[in-house]
Amino acid sequence: MQPAAYSPVRPNEELRSRVIEFCRTHGADLIGFAPVKRWEEFNEVPPEYRPQSLFPPAQTVIVIGLAMPLPIVETTPSFLHKELYTTCNQELDSIAFNLTRFLNRQGLASYFFTRDGYASLSALKKKPYAAFGHTAAARYAGMGTIGLSRNLLTPEFGPRVRLVSVLTAAQLEGQPVMEKDLCIQCQACVKCCPKNALKARDDQIRGDFDVNLCIDQHIELVKQRCYPCGICIKVCPIGKDRALYKQKGIVKKYLHEAEVLASNPDAPEYRSWTHVRRHGGRLPQ
Ligand code: SF4
Ligand code: SF4
Repeated sequence: MQPAAYSPVRPNEELRSRVIEFCRTHGADLIGFAPVKRWEEFNEVPPEYRPQSLFPPAQTVIVIGLAMPLPIVETTPSFLHKELYTTCNQELDSIAFNLTRFLNRQGLASYFFTRDGYASLSALKKKPYAAFGHTAAARYAGMGTIGLSRNLLTPEFGPRVRLVSVLTAAQLEGQPVMEKDLCIQCQACVKCCPKNALKARDDQIRGDFDVNLCIDQHIELVKQRCYPCGICIKVCPIGKDRALYKQKGIVKKYLHEAEVLASNPDAPEYRSWTHVRRHGGRLPQ
């Protein structure tokens, strides 16, 4: 028996505005729309990971982003950063779940992918890919570009934004994909990665990434109750959030952090971060 045919809805400006309003009302910081044909045009994502392979009626992927406040990200690895990560994930899933139901109520078949698509670190170690890539979706939705660290860099928050995606039969107009790379190849992410998991390349902006080294770091941090790492996200100088927190020009402080704290764990310039790390089991009290 043939599967039921889905007839795509025509581009709908009014619905697009209502989706934006819905997401904003529910707390979204960034919202993007990626027509599914972009996965075919760019031909970067393996076919089985593309929206229509996962959900055949999909015409548009709506990507929702929540910002991670920089001063909390700066404490990583810490229990505080872990709590922020958990809260952000719950909020993202809640927005996506509610948006999916909102669209379904309009008669538009929709489906969402939780912000992490791999279940656990041990599962990720065996198969180092999420079931759906929100980073690629956000790029195709015109929300940012991929940096050396392979994180999505956005003009607003650099990589300090977490993402979730709603796949929908609604045909909604996409934003243009950003052409100019936001990554300035400063290599702060490469130099600060505690596992040397990132390496710059001469032939492209995106660096080489050893996912197993990164997963190993996360497995260690789970034992210390301060997962995830996110140091490459903390140190990236891109993002207007740095101006909000008056944290421009701070990269030198990040680059010297490990060395200074190794010789003086009480170094006063890092005290606001080490104070947090001395709670929750990360560092000696
Ligand atoms: S830290 Fe520098 S090199 Fe790394 S992604 Fe950000 S801008 Fe690019
Ligand atoms: S999350 Fe941590 S270990 Fe993984 S690449 Fe970024 S800095 Fe390195």
